[in-house]
Amino acid sequence: MSEELPAREAMEFDVVIVGGGPSGLAAAIRLKQVSPDASVVVVEKGAEVGAHILSGACVDPIAFDRLLPGWREEADAPLKTKVKDDRFYMLFGQRALRLPNALMPPLLNNHGAFIVSLGDVCKWLAAKAEALGVEIYPGFAASEVLFGDNGEVVGVATGDMGIGRDGAPKDTFTRGMELRAKYTLFAEGARGHLGKRLLAHYDLCKGREPQKFGIGIKELWQVTPDRHHPGLVQHTFGWPLDNKTGGGSFLYHYGENLVAVGFVLHLNYENPYLSPFEEFQRFKTHPLVRRTFTDGKRIGYGARAIAEGGWQSVPKVAFPGGVLIGDDAGFLNVPRIKGTHNAMLSGMLAAEHVAAALAAGRAGDELTDYETGWRSSDVGRDLWKVRNAKPLWSRFGTAIGIGLGGLDMWTNAMGFSFFGTRPHGKPDSACLKPAASCRPITYPKPDGVLTFDRLSSVYLSNTNHEEDQPVHLQLADPGLQKASEYDVYAGPSGRYCPAGVYEWVREDDGPQARMRFVINAQNCVHCKTCDIKDPNGNITWVAPEGGGGPVYPSM
Ligand SMILES: Cc1cc2nc3c(=O)[nH]c(=O)nc-3n(C[C@H](O)[C@H](O)[C@H](O)COP(=O)(O)OP(=O)(O)OC[C@H]3O[C@@H](n4cnc5c(N)ncnc54)[C@H](O)[C@@H]3O)c2cc1C
Ligand code: SF4
Repeated sequence: MSEELPAREAMEFDVVIVGGGPSGLAAAIRLKQVSPDASVVVVEKGAEVGAHILSGACVDPIAFDRLLPGWREEADAPLKTKVKDDRFYMLFGQRALRLPNALMPPLLNNHGAFIVSLGDVCKWLAAKAEALGVEIYPGFAASEVLFGDNGEVVGVATGDMGIGRDGAPKDTFTRGMELRAKYTLFAEGARGHLGKRLLAHYDLCKGREPQKFGIGIKELWQVTPDRHHPGLVQHTFGWPLDNKTGGGSFLYHYGENLVAVGFVLHLNYENPYLSPFEEFQRFKTHPLVRRTFTDGKRIGYGARAIAEGGWQSVPKVAFPGGVLIGDDAGFLNVPRIKGTHNAMLSGMLAAEHVAAALAAGRAGDELTDYETGWRSSDVGRDLWKVRNAKPLWSRFGTAIGIGLGGLDMWTNAMGFSFFGTRPHGKPDSACLKPAASCRPITYPKPDGVLTFDRLSSVYLSNTNHEEDQPVHLQLADPGLQKASEYDVYAGPSGRYCPAGVYEWVREDDGPQARMRFVINAQNCVHCKTCDIKDPNGNITWVAPEGGGGPVYPSM
């Protein structure tokens, strides 16, 4: 089709950054601090910076201290609530066992961290970047990587707007732009869709363990003042998950009577009947948790994948003309459930190498110093110490795996490990078992007060997409959905998608009954779980028209 379309206009920059999250914005700021004359542009698919940002978030301030020394004195800095009380629990049915803080590996200590809305933090960082001269284009999704004559990345193209569902241009058609650059930084977050293409194009995962993921589902609540304990951070694992299924919860009290509550479920789960959304709803009914929300009001909802593979799954992060930074590279620290600090530190590290290359008059080459340098940087040191936590949990289950992981983090703090570096094994898409060998799970009905259904939840994410556009959830082989996803795995997409995008609908009654796969693409909250968990790797998430998707209120 592109042959019939007019040529795209091109704009030239020194650096293009794809994604206005913490990694992309920290990179942009650092670039302008080091090279004030460099032209830097950030493209962000959300309607505004922060609109697609979903996090906990209890953040380690190390990167803020490095990037913006003096931020602690700024009245408008959105890092206000300091952690005062740090609790870990193991849940068993209706009981909870608090783990003594003294037993926890030192790196899991949250004292000194801040509880924030990461969306608000990104808005603040964006203002800082703009003040330094960075151009930020919200509402534009980068949909294509541009390659030069020597195979190097030379920028990205933003998606065309105004294409109908049938693929034909509408009256509102506007051609995308080419944003060309000497270096392009990919900062799309976990399972970036251009990042995924680059991994394949340059074979960047060769010799690495497969990347692992979790799905994080979060609600934001306004609670009554008597139930609000600003600075309280509470993490749990165990119930409602069984011993074989990894995951846990977070609950953070901050701001004006706000509580962020969420559940992260590892996407290597086996039972296709499991629903991460329903497990989260069930978790909130635990006596330790439910009283926080009595007489409270739920005001936000959203979901996002997190990269869990860590040290051994980080791909090669540099290639000709570009680099991966932040969660696009997989720099999240899983046992800490923290990625913001590494996202920002990796963005800053990459920016410093880009600035040095620009100063030397280079363009389009491979930033090998970033590739060789990150493992000995603070990012690498942070990930090295926790590299076995996730594989041990997956291999030995929650009860034993967490204990072994804790032991390994303690010994790593002292400089050694009994376990070497454990492999992850299979990618998450290969972990589901056929439905015939699994037990169906019956979940309680939502009460509409503490527990909710999917559609009323998605409503709170303010998700909207232009309906008349090509479906952005692409099936490589539509026939495989019925033959395998439905017939073999009993349609797990209807359960793992936190936004109710996928449905299997019975078309006729009686012996001729036919099941039809329906994709309600307009509900998609861009979490990327389908792209990760479909058992056949048959679903690919591509960027819809820029500006579409959730508009999260301070998530
Ligand atoms: C439920 C949950 C809880 C978490 N809790 C914590 C916590 O307590 N503490 C902590 O430190 N970390 C936490 N994290 C992790 C943290 O949020 C991430 O590590 C961090 O946000 C990564 O930053 P990033 O810039 O790499 O990516 P992101 O924050 O994902 O930002 C990527 C940005 O790029 C944009 N984008 C993507 N693709 C394109 C494209 N093609 N074109 C244009 N724009 C694009 C997106 O819209 C988004 O704005 C949590 C994550 C989740 C999901
Ligand atoms: S369609 Fe895929 S990316 Fe969109 S919300 Fe559902 S699982 Fe997430």
